[in-house]
Amino acid sequence: MKNNIRALSLFSGGLDSILATCLVMSQGIDVVAIQFVTPFFNYHILKDIDSYRDEVRSKYGINVKVVDISIDYLEMLRNPVHGFGKNFNPCIDCKIYMLSRAREMLGELDAKFLITGEVLGQRPMSQRRDTLNVIERDSGSRSLLLRPLSAKLMLETEAERKGWVDREKLLKFSGRGRSSQIALAKEYGITDYPSPAGGCILADPILSRRVSQLYSEESILRPAEITTTDVQLLLVGRQFVLPGGGWLILGRDERDNDKLEALVGSVDALLWMEERPGPAALLKKAGSWYGDALELENNLQLAASLVVRYGRKIEGSRPVGEVTCTLAGKSRIIQAQPLEDKVFRDWML
Ligand code: SF4
Repeated sequence: MKNNIRALSLFSGGLDSILATCLVMSQGIDVVAIQFVTPFFNYHILKDIDSYRDEVRSKYGINVKVVDISIDYLEMLRNPVHGFGKNFNPCIDCKIYMLSRAREMLGELDAKFLITGEVLGQRPMSQRRDTLNVIERDSGSRSLLLRPLSAKLMLETEAERKGWVDREKLLKFSGRGRSSQIALAKEYGITDYPSPAGGCILADPILSRRVSQLYSEESILRPAEITTTDVQLLLVGRQFVLPGGGWLILGRDERDNDKLEALVGSVDALLWMEERPGPAALLKKAGSWYGDALELENNLQLAASLVVRYGRKIEGSRPVGEVTCTLAGKSRIIQAQPLEDKVFRDWML
């Protein structure tokens, strides 16, 4: 280990962050890879952090520390200073937040500098030279931040000036192509890594639309009320905004139904049919959001009709169904006709 120098790398689990981390480790620096987790990316890791750390260590020899930033992240998403990209992705504020957070961890982890896998010009919004400068400036990490994959195209950082890393052995990758990264991965014997697309729900055109609806003025939740459970609910099954604004989630299969059952809150209604297979439905805040009983009853009836609509057919048709509805610890049966598709098409999110 080079004079016991330690660095923290921002680790997404993607190839660029793997390579940036390995490149600096290859110069004898002890690198701790910080993997931030939110309900929008990498959330599954929280289910079994130890297995994930073992997997990354055995595949790439990298030591990962997993940090859940969900609460701060939900708050940042309410009003990102630098706005959103093509979808509901606040990439610049996201990077500023993560770098600031990692910078704060330097002292605690006895580390001297920061690393990211950013490549100049690779992403239209967040990896242009001017944007990289803004990210450094606003995260207070200017001389602390080394981007090993493009370092030779950038100004010297403290780690190079102080001789902790040899600038000559750093790289000058730029642009959107992946061939240099793939060749370097081969050199390191890395063959198993995630594809570059995907990973962040906020950059996904369909799922990010759901998130943006949750944060909009039409949402039944005020932005300050949104929790990780709400984001998890957004990613389940079919989503509807009912007339009047109610939020309904319908399971597509048994797994979704189990998730809805696990995520139901004390003021949410849960609906399902005992008599035949079909979706479970969760009507969010049924017990607290509705202005009057009639409005609630109307939305519960629509929810029950959708449960019957997506329930299994009996001898080629869908007869009236008996839908069990539980709310605030009480259960009752709602008789419901299947709803016609043309009625609810526009309610789908
Ligand atoms: S794609 Fe998602 S995780 Fe990546 S910078 Fe943008 S908002 Fe952050």
